[in-house]
Amino acid sequence: MLELPMALRLFNTLSSQIEEFHPLRDREVRMYACGPTVYDYGHIGNFRTFVAVDLLRRFFRQSGYTVRHVMNITDVDDKIIRNAAREGVSVQQYTAKYERAFLEDAALIGIEEPTLVRATEHIPEMADFVAKLVERDIAYRTDDGSYYFRIAKFPQYGKLSKRDFSGMMDGARVDVDEYDKDSARDFALWKAPKPGEASWDTAIGPGRPGWHLECSVMSMSELGETFDLHAGGEDLVFPHHENEIAQSESFTGKPFVHFWFHARFLLVEGEKMAKSLGNFFTLRDLVLKGHKPSSIRYLLASVPYRHQLNFTFDGLKQAAVSVERLRNFKLRLTTGNFEAGSNPEIQSLAADTVKRMTAAFDDDLNTAQAQAAIFEMVRQANAAFDTGGIKQDDVPPLCAVLDKFDEIFAVLNDDDGPKMKRVLEWAAAEGREAEITDRAREAVQSGQLSDARIEQKIDAIKNARKARDFKTSDTLRAELAIAGVLVEITKDGIRWRRK
Ligand code: AMP
Ligand code: ZN
Repeated sequence: MLELPMALRLFNTLSSQIEEFHPLRDREVRMYACGPTVYDYGHIGNFRTFVAVDLLRRFFRQSGYTVRHVMNITDVDDKIIRNAAREGVSVQQYTAKYERAFLEDAALIGIEEPTLVRATEHIPEMADFVAKLVERDIAYRTDDGSYYFRIAKFPQYGKLSKRDFSGMMDGARVDVDEYDKDSARDFALWKAPKPGEASWDTAIGPGRPGWHLECSVMSMSELGETFDLHAGGEDLVFPHHENEIAQSESFTGKPFVHFWFHARFLLVEGEKMAKSLGNFFTLRDLVLKGHKPSSIRYLLASVPYRHQLNFTFDGLKQAAVSVERLRNFKLRLTTGNFEAGSNPEIQSLAADTVKRMTAAFDDDLNTAQAQAAIFEMVRQANAAFDTGGIKQDDVPPLCAVLDKFDEIFAVLNDDDGPKMKRVLEWAAAEGREAEITDRAREAVQSGQLSDARIEQKIDAIKNARKARDFKTSDTLRAELAIAGVLVEITKDGIRWRRK
């Protein structure tokens, strides 16, 4: 039976209020997230935001919606052009490496891949967009062949960042992609070529798009002129998203986006992350230190997206313990021997936990509450285990709660070992072996499933099949496959071998 969507209540930066979320089209959510600028490896701050968006997308789906989730890869901007020129390579050569790294990192940390769009593949559309704004006198060309957005033509400018720009000097300009509120001026839509910079020949002349234009054009081309939700980190509210609204709404005369979703910046050990402070970490840095991708994801997901997450190494250890506890509980459930029958208390514990989790997510994605609910269930169920209080028919509902939790958090599958192995291989290939800690090597070793652990999982598959619970059996089989173990089910029994 199709579940009716629950009423998700979400904070909307545009209205500064918590609002009930309803998609504009019946059961389909159209969302756009500003993706990475691929000029370096992604840091944990970037992934704080990307994980928050991933949790949101997964919860939409769990609530019964289909989701069209588009993310851009910014593969041309000021920083990229500067770095590519410094290394003496083309923009494309430069960004290809970091785009691949981003996709690998996103998979490492359990982010489901959105539909990806690349700025450099939409250049003619962007030029046409500028041309239309020029026709309406909303954009103008300067002598060097650049184009600017005339913000005096958009009286609502400032409605997202809640600033009144009405007293601003008409015609003053800014041509860098990022700037602060006090220097809000007519901003560059299109930048004329500069010596040594990548540029494209288009209907409005040679040049390249400004960063803000990229997102307006690509989001509307994929999702329509008005869509449900646009996401990013809080730093994007101004100028990036403010400018996207100005361009898009001037172009279409329609509201651009219904909900604006912004994740708060994370701190590391109580401070703003900065290379100069030595507290700047990419995802790969943490893996090379021996931390599991599942612990990192769990920690990034544990603080609701509008609260400041203080990333600490103690917190990371704690997250590892939490994930291990959940995995052990699942193993206990799937490998245990239980008496026939059911215990009404456990049945209602499972049902209540599902309700509590859903209510937590509905409450502006309160991930902390959802985690608290599952741990309360694990605590009570573990106590019941010890006194024989869990019966055969209690196992499927408890497993179903774990599955539901994991549809969002995605940490139960024990695939850290093979994932970490790939990061270590990358470090070796990049000549960064010195950064691989003993802890990381040990984690990879212990991440290789032992024969005993594999036999345990095979027993769990047998039990599940006996109970005709093919979903659990398939999940376990898939987990083993990811860990490099092939399982063959024949009429004579179950065999396994390492790949
Ligand atoms: P960038 O690659 O710099 O364009 O950033 C990609 C995404 O990461 C954007 O949504 C940023 O807002 C977000 N972001 C950057 N730094 C942080 C941080 N310290 N905490 C949370 N999100 C961040
Ligand atoms: Zn964007």
